[in-house]
Amino acid sequence: MAATASGRQAWRQLVRTSCRGPATTTPSTYSRLAFRRLASSTTQASPRRAATQSSSPSPSSFLRQQPLAQRSSYSSGSQGKSTPPRNSNNQVKFWPFLIIIACGSGGYMLLVNRRIEMPPTTTKPPSPAFSPTDVTVLFVLGGPGAGKGTQCARLVRDYHFTHLSAGDLLRAEQDRPGSQYGQLIRDCIKDGAIVPMEVTVALLENAMRETITTSKNKKFLIDGFPRKMDQALKFEEVVCPAKLVLFYDCPEAEMEKRLLERGKTSGRADDNADSIRKRFRTFVETSMPVVDHYESEDRVVKVDATSTPDGVYADTQTKLKKVLGDKF
Ligand code: UDP
Ligand code: MG
Repeated sequence: MAATASGRQAWRQLVRTSCRGPATTTPSTYSRLAFRRLASSTTQASPRRAATQSSSPSPSSFLRQQPLAQRSSYSSGSQGKSTPPRNSNNQVKFWPFLIIIACGSGGYMLLVNRRIEMPPTTTKPPSPAFSPTDVTVLFVLGGPGAGKGTQCARLVRDYHFTHLSAGDLLRAEQDRPGSQYGQLIRDCIKDGAIVPMEVTVALLENAMRETITTSKNKKFLIDGFPRKMDQALKFEEVVCPAKLVLFYDCPEAEMEKRLLERGKTSGRADDNADSIRKRFRTFVETSMPVVDHYESEDRVVKVDATSTPDGVYADTQTKLKKVLGDKF
Protein backbone atom coordinates (compact mmCIF):
# COMPACT_ATOMS: atom_id res chain seq x y z
CA MET A 1 0.00 0.00 0.00
CA ALA A 2 2.86 2.32 1.08
CA ALA A 3 4.38 1.58 -2.21
CA THR A 4 1.05 2.39 -3.84
CA ALA A 5 0.70 5.67 -1.88
CA SER A 6 4.20 6.81 -2.66
CA GLY A 7 3.63 5.82 -6.22
CA ARG A 8 0.46 7.94 -6.36
CA GLN A 9 2.32 10.90 -4.83
CA ALA A 10 5.07 10.58 -7.35
CA TRP A 11 2.47 10.55 -10.13
CA ARG A 12 0.76 13.73 -8.80
CA GLN A 13 4.13 15.39 -8.49
CA LEU A 14 4.85 14.46 -11.99
CA VAL A 15 1.50 15.78 -13.19
CA ARG A 16 1.96 19.09 -11.27
CA THR A 17 5.40 19.71 -12.57
CA SER A 18 4.44 18.82 -16.05
CA CYS A 19 1.50 21.26 -15.84
CA ARG A 20 3.59 24.18 -14.57
CA GLY A 21 7.01 23.65 -15.82
CA PRO A 22 8.53 22.85 -19.15
CA ALA A 23 5.17 21.72 -20.51
CA THR A 24 4.13 25.39 -20.98
CA THR A 25 7.13 26.07 -23.21
CA THR A 26 6.58 23.50 -25.93
CA PRO A 27 7.94 24.40 -29.40
CA SER A 28 4.43 25.21 -30.63
CA THR A 29 3.93 27.65 -27.80
CA TYR A 30 7.20 29.34 -28.65
CA SER A 31 6.19 29.57 -32.26
CA ARG A 32 2.82 31.04 -31.38
CA LEU A 33 4.50 33.67 -29.22
CA ALA A 34 6.96 34.47 -31.95
CA PHE A 35 4.08 34.80 -34.43
CA ARG A 36 2.23 37.19 -32.10
CA ARG A 37 5.32 39.37 -31.84
CA LEU A 38 5.76 39.26 -35.63
CA ALA A 39 2.07 39.93 -36.22
CA SER A 40 2.09 42.94 -33.94
CA SER A 41 5.24 44.30 -35.58
CA THR A 42 3.95 43.81 -39.15
CA THR A 43 0.56 45.22 -38.14
CA GLN A 44 2.32 48.42 -37.27
CA ALA A 45 4.25 48.34 -40.54
CA SER A 46 1.32 47.42 -42.84
CA PRO A 47 -2.30 48.02 -41.81
CA ARG A 48 -3.58 46.09 -44.85
CA ARG A 49 -1.73 42.94 -43.93
CA ALA A 50 -2.90 43.32 -40.30
CA ALA A 51 -6.48 43.25 -41.43
CA THR A 52 -6.01 39.88 -43.14
CA GLN A 53 -4.14 38.47 -40.13
CA SER A 54 -6.47 39.52 -37.33
CA SER A 55 -7.98 36.06 -36.76
CA SER A 56 -5.98 33.20 -35.23
CA PRO A 57 -3.53 31.77 -37.70
CA SER A 58 -4.13 28.52 -39.60
CA PRO A 59 -1.16 26.19 -40.25
CA SER A 60 -0.69 27.52 -43.74
CA SER A 61 -1.06 31.13 -42.70
CA PHE A 62 1.37 30.45 -39.95
CA LEU A 63 3.93 29.44 -42.51
CA ARG A 64 3.26 32.68 -44.32
CA GLN A 65 3.65 34.57 -41.09
CA GLN A 66 7.04 33.25 -40.03
CA PRO A 67 9.74 35.81 -39.26
CA LEU A 68 11.60 36.95 -42.38
CA ALA A 69 14.76 35.06 -41.49
CA GLN A 70 12.89 31.73 -41.43
CA ARG A 71 11.03 32.16 -44.69
CA SER A 72 12.11 31.06 -48.14
CA SER A 73 9.61 33.27 -49.97
CA TYR A 74 6.68 35.66 -49.52
CA SER A 75 4.82 34.27 -52.45
CA SER A 76 2.89 31.04 -51.83
CA GLY A 77 3.49 30.04 -55.47
CA SER A 78 7.25 30.14 -55.07
CA GLN A 79 7.52 28.45 -51.73
CA GLY A 80 10.59 26.28 -51.56
CA LYS A 81 12.26 28.09 -54.44
CA SER A 82 15.32 30.18 -53.84
CA THR A 83 13.95 33.41 -55.34
CA PRO A 84 15.26 36.35 -53.36
CA PRO A 85 12.56 38.30 -51.50
CA ARG A 86 11.06 41.07 -53.55
CA ASN A 87 11.56 44.59 -52.45
CA SER A 88 8.48 46.80 -52.57
CA ASN A 89 10.65 49.50 -54.25
CA ASN A 90 11.08 47.22 -57.30
CA GLN A 91 7.29 47.21 -57.87
CA VAL A 92 7.24 51.00 -57.94
CA LYS A 93 9.98 51.02 -60.62
CA PHE A 94 8.10 48.57 -62.86
CA TRP A 95 4.94 50.70 -63.38
CA PRO A 96 6.57 53.71 -65.06
CA PHE A 97 7.74 51.39 -67.82
CA LEU A 98 4.24 50.06 -68.30
CA ILE A 99 2.87 53.62 -68.43
CA ILE A 100 5.53 54.68 -70.96
CA ILE A 101 4.79 51.65 -73.18
CA ALA A 102 1.02 52.25 -72.94
CA CYS A 103 1.39 55.96 -73.78
CA GLY A 104 3.77 55.20 -76.66
CA SER A 105 1.43 52.57 -78.12
CA GLY A 106 -1.57 54.87 -77.73
CA GLY A 107 0.23 57.75 -79.44
CA TYR A 108 1.32 55.48 -82.27
CA MET A 109 -2.23 54.21 -82.80
CA LEU A 110 -3.50 57.81 -82.85
CA LEU A 111 -0.96 58.71 -85.53
CA VAL A 112 -1.84 55.63 -87.57
CA ASN A 113 -5.57 56.38 -87.35
CA ARG A 114 -5.05 60.01 -88.33
CA ARG A 115 -2.97 58.88 -91.35
CA ILE A 116 -5.80 56.50 -92.42
CA GLU A 117 -8.35 59.31 -92.19
CA MET A 118 -6.18 61.66 -94.29
CA PRO A 119 -7.15 62.01 -97.97
CA PRO A 120 -4.88 60.04 -100.36
CA THR A 121 -1.92 62.03 -101.66
CA THR A 122 -2.51 60.97 -105.27
CA THR A 123 -4.19 63.77 -107.19
CA LYS A 124 -7.36 63.15 -109.17
CA PRO A 125 -6.77 63.00 -112.94
CA PRO A 126 -8.04 66.18 -114.64
CA SER A 127 -11.38 65.85 -116.41
CA PRO A 128 -11.35 66.61 -120.17
CA ALA A 129 -12.11 70.16 -121.32
CA PHE A 130 -15.03 68.91 -123.47
CA SER A 131 -17.51 66.18 -122.72
CA PRO A 132 -17.82 63.44 -125.38
CA THR A 133 -21.62 63.55 -124.96
CA ASP A 134 -21.56 67.21 -126.01
CA VAL A 135 -18.65 67.26 -128.49
CA THR A 136 -17.97 64.67 -131.25
CA VAL A 137 -14.36 63.93 -132.14
CA LEU A 138 -13.29 61.58 -134.95
CA PHE A 139 -9.55 60.98 -135.33
CA VAL A 140 -8.54 60.59 -139.00
CA LEU A 141 -5.36 58.51 -139.44
CA GLY A 142 -3.38 56.99 -142.31
CA GLY A 143 0.12 57.12 -143.74
CA PRO A 144 1.48 60.28 -145.40
CA GLY A 145 -0.31 60.69 -148.71
CA ALA A 146 -3.10 58.24 -147.86
CA GLY A 147 -5.68 60.92 -148.70
CA LYS A 148 -6.87 62.04 -145.27
CA GLY A 149 -7.17 65.71 -146.25
CA THR A 150 -9.15 64.89 -149.41
CA GLN A 151 -11.68 62.69 -147.55
CA CYS A 152 -12.05 65.17 -144.68
CA ALA A 153 -13.02 67.94 -147.13
CA ARG A 154 -15.93 65.82 -148.39
CA LEU A 155 -17.10 64.91 -144.88
CA VAL A 156 -17.09 68.62 -143.97
CA ARG A 157 -19.17 69.39 -147.03
CA ASP A 158 -21.77 66.67 -146.37
CA TYR A 159 -21.90 66.29 -142.61
CA HIS A 160 -20.91 69.71 -141.28
CA PHE A 161 -17.81 68.67 -139.44
CA THR A 162 -15.08 71.15 -138.61
CA HIS A 163 -11.80 69.89 -140.06
CA LEU A 164 -8.71 70.42 -137.92
CA SER A 165 -5.47 69.22 -139.53
CA ALA A 166 -2.69 68.85 -136.95
CA GLY A 167 -0.12 69.38 -139.72
CA ASP A 168 -1.85 72.59 -140.90
CA LEU A 169 -2.06 73.94 -137.32
CA LEU A 170 1.66 73.20 -136.80
CA ARG A 171 2.62 74.89 -140.06
CA ALA A 172 0.54 77.95 -139.07
CA GLU A 173 2.22 78.06 -135.65
CA GLN A 174 5.64 77.66 -137.27
CA ASP A 175 4.95 80.72 -139.45
CA ARG A 176 3.34 82.81 -136.72
CA PRO A 177 5.62 85.79 -135.95
CA GLY A 178 7.08 85.54 -132.45
CA SER A 179 6.23 81.86 -131.93
CA GLN A 180 8.72 80.25 -129.57
CA TYR A 181 8.06 76.88 -131.24
CA GLY A 182 8.66 78.00 -134.86
CA GLN A 183 12.14 76.54 -135.28
CA LEU A 184 11.32 73.35 -133.37
CA ILE A 185 8.27 72.67 -135.56
CA ARG A 186 10.23 73.44 -138.74
CA ASP A 187 12.98 70.95 -137.81
CA CYS A 188 10.51 68.20 -136.85
CA ILE A 189 8.47 68.51 -140.05
CA LYS A 190 11.56 68.40 -142.29
CA ASP A 191 12.79 65.25 -140.49
CA GLY A 192 9.37 63.61 -140.52
CA ALA A 193 9.59 63.53 -136.72
CA ILE A 194 6.80 64.15 -134.18
CA VAL A 195 6.56 67.59 -132.58
CA PRO A 196 6.35 67.36 -128.74
CA MET A 197 2.75 66.56 -127.88
CA GLU A 198 2.20 69.53 -125.56
CA VAL A 199 2.48 71.90 -128.53
CA THR A 200 0.11 69.95 -130.80
CA VAL A 201 -2.46 69.18 -128.09
CA ALA A 202 -2.55 72.85 -127.06
CA LEU A 203 -2.99 74.00 -130.67
CA LEU A 204 -5.87 71.55 -131.16
CA GLU A 205 -7.61 72.48 -127.92
CA ASN A 206 -7.37 76.20 -128.74
CA ALA A 207 -8.77 75.61 -132.23
CA MET A 208 -11.68 73.54 -130.86
CA ARG A 209 -12.52 76.14 -128.23
CA GLU A 210 -12.48 78.91 -130.80
CA THR A 211 -14.72 76.94 -133.18
CA ILE A 212 -17.23 76.09 -130.44
CA THR A 213 -17.32 79.73 -129.30
CA THR A 214 -17.62 81.33 -132.74
CA SER A 215 -19.53 78.84 -134.91
CA LYS A 216 -21.15 76.68 -132.18
CA ASN A 217 -20.09 73.64 -134.22
CA LYS A 218 -19.21 70.72 -131.93
CA LYS A 219 -18.34 68.04 -134.52
CA PHE A 220 -14.64 67.68 -135.27
CA LEU A 221 -12.48 65.69 -137.66
CA ILE A 222 -8.96 65.73 -136.22
CA ASP A 223 -6.73 64.91 -139.22
CA GLY A 224 -3.24 63.43 -138.87
CA PHE A 225 -3.51 63.11 -135.11
CA PRO A 226 -2.70 61.29 -132.81
CA ARG A 227 0.52 60.13 -134.42
CA LYS A 228 1.99 58.82 -131.17
CA MET A 229 0.54 57.03 -128.11
CA ASP A 230 1.38 59.82 -125.67
CA GLN A 231 -0.56 62.29 -127.84
CA ALA A 232 -3.56 59.97 -127.92
CA LEU A 233 -3.64 59.48 -124.17
CA LYS A 234 -3.03 63.15 -123.39
CA PHE A 235 -5.66 64.44 -125.78
CA GLU A 236 -8.36 62.08 -124.52
CA GLU A 237 -7.44 62.87 -120.93
CA VAL A 238 -7.36 66.66 -121.09
CA VAL A 239 -9.27 67.69 -124.24
CA CYS A 240 -11.96 65.19 -125.24
CA PRO A 241 -12.33 61.41 -125.63
CA ALA A 242 -12.72 60.47 -129.31
CA LYS A 243 -15.76 58.63 -130.66
CA LEU A 244 -13.68 56.58 -133.12
CA VAL A 245 -10.66 56.45 -135.43
CA LEU A 246 -11.20 56.65 -139.18
CA PHE A 247 -8.16 54.86 -140.63
CA TYR A 248 -7.18 55.11 -144.31
CA ASP A 249 -5.15 52.08 -145.27
CA CYS A 250 -2.84 52.56 -148.29
CA PRO A 251 0.30 50.76 -149.53
CA GLU A 252 3.59 52.71 -149.26
CA ALA A 253 4.25 52.63 -153.05
CA GLU A 254 0.91 54.31 -153.77
CA MET A 255 1.44 56.93 -151.04
CA GLU A 256 4.96 57.72 -152.36
CA LYS A 257 3.62 58.25 -155.89
CA ARG A 258 0.92 60.65 -154.60
CA LEU A 259 3.33 62.61 -152.39
CA LEU A 260 5.88 63.12 -155.16
CA GLU A 261 3.11 64.32 -157.45
CA ARG A 262 1.77 66.66 -154.74
CA GLY A 263 5.32 67.95 -154.10
CA LYS A 264 5.38 69.55 -157.56
CA THR A 265 2.89 72.20 -156.41
CA SER A 266 2.41 71.95 -152.60
CA GLY A 267 5.52 73.90 -151.66
CA ARG A 268 5.79 71.71 -148.54
CA ALA A 269 9.28 71.23 -147.16
CA ASP A 270 8.56 67.52 -146.44
CA ASP A 271 7.16 66.47 -149.84
CA ASN A 272 10.57 65.33 -151.17
CA ALA A 273 12.05 61.83 -151.43
CA ASP A 274 14.31 62.15 -148.38
CA SER A 275 11.58 63.50 -146.02
CA ILE A 276 9.00 61.07 -147.42
CA ARG A 277 11.23 58.11 -146.49
CA LYS A 278 11.59 59.41 -142.93
CA ARG A 279 7.86 60.06 -142.65
CA PHE A 280 7.11 56.48 -143.69
CA ARG A 281 9.44 55.13 -141.01
CA THR A 282 7.88 57.32 -138.35
CA PHE A 283 4.43 56.22 -139.43
CA VAL A 284 5.25 52.49 -139.20
CA GLU A 285 7.20 52.70 -135.94
CA THR A 286 5.27 55.36 -134.04
CA SER A 287 1.83 55.93 -135.53
CA MET A 288 0.72 52.38 -136.39
CA PRO A 289 0.87 51.37 -132.70
CA VAL A 290 -1.76 54.09 -132.08
CA VAL A 291 -4.04 52.50 -134.71
CA ASP A 292 -3.40 49.07 -133.17
CA HIS A 293 -4.28 50.44 -129.72
CA TYR A 294 -7.65 51.76 -130.86
CA GLU A 295 -8.26 48.60 -132.88
CA SER A 296 -7.78 46.56 -129.70
CA GLU A 297 -10.52 48.74 -128.17
CA ASP A 298 -12.76 48.15 -131.21
CA ARG A 299 -12.84 51.88 -132.02
CA VAL A 300 -11.40 51.81 -135.56
CA VAL A 301 -13.29 52.20 -138.87
CA LYS A 302 -10.84 51.00 -141.51
CA VAL A 303 -11.22 52.09 -145.16
CA ASP A 304 -9.13 50.91 -148.12
CA ALA A 305 -7.54 54.10 -149.58
CA THR A 306 -6.07 52.77 -152.86
CA SER A 307 -9.12 53.55 -154.99
CA THR A 308 -10.15 56.92 -156.52
CA PRO A 309 -11.12 59.77 -154.13
CA ASP A 310 -14.84 59.22 -154.91
CA GLY A 311 -14.57 55.46 -154.47
CA VAL A 312 -12.84 55.85 -151.11
CA TYR A 313 -15.41 58.43 -150.01
CA ALA A 314 -18.35 56.13 -150.85
CA ASP A 315 -16.74 53.42 -148.77
CA THR A 316 -16.14 55.91 -145.96
CA GLN A 317 -19.81 56.93 -145.85
CA THR A 318 -21.06 53.34 -145.83
CA LYS A 319 -18.77 52.33 -142.99
CA LEU A 320 -19.42 55.42 -140.86
CA LYS A 321 -23.19 55.06 -141.25
CA LYS A 322 -22.93 51.49 -140.02
CA VAL A 323 -21.26 52.61 -136.83
CA LEU A 324 -22.74 56.07 -136.20
CA GLY A 325 -26.13 55.80 -137.91
CA ASP A 326 -27.39 57.58 -141.05
CA LYS A 327 -27.04 61.13 -139.67
CA PHE A 328 -23.66 61.07 -138.06
N1 UDP B 1 3.11 66.43 -137.36
C1 UDP B 1 3.38 66.22 -136.06
N2 UDP B 1 2.41 65.89 -135.21
C2 UDP B 1 1.14 65.67 -135.60
C3 UDP B 1 0.82 65.87 -136.95
C4 UDP B 1 1.83 66.24 -137.82
O1 UDP B 1 4.51 66.39 -135.64
O2 UDP B 1 0.29 65.32 -134.76
C5 UDP B 1 4.18 66.84 -138.30
C6 UDP B 1 4.98 65.65 -138.76
O3 UDP B 1 6.32 66.05 -138.90
C7 UDP B 1 4.38 65.32 -140.09
C8 UDP B 1 4.08 66.69 -140.60
O4 UDP B 1 3.63 67.41 -139.46
O5 UDP B 1 5.25 64.60 -140.91
C9 UDP B 1 3.06 66.77 -141.68
O6 UDP B 1 1.83 66.29 -141.22
P1 UDP B 1 0.57 66.22 -142.19
O7 UDP B 1 -0.57 65.68 -141.44
O8 UDP B 1 0.35 67.56 -142.83
O9 UDP B 1 1.04 65.20 -143.29
P2 UDP B 1 0.14 64.29 -144.23
O10 UDP B 1 -0.05 63.04 -143.46
O11 UDP B 1 -1.12 65.02 -144.49
O12 UDP B 1 0.94 64.08 -145.46
MG1 MG C 1 -2.62 66.00 -144.59
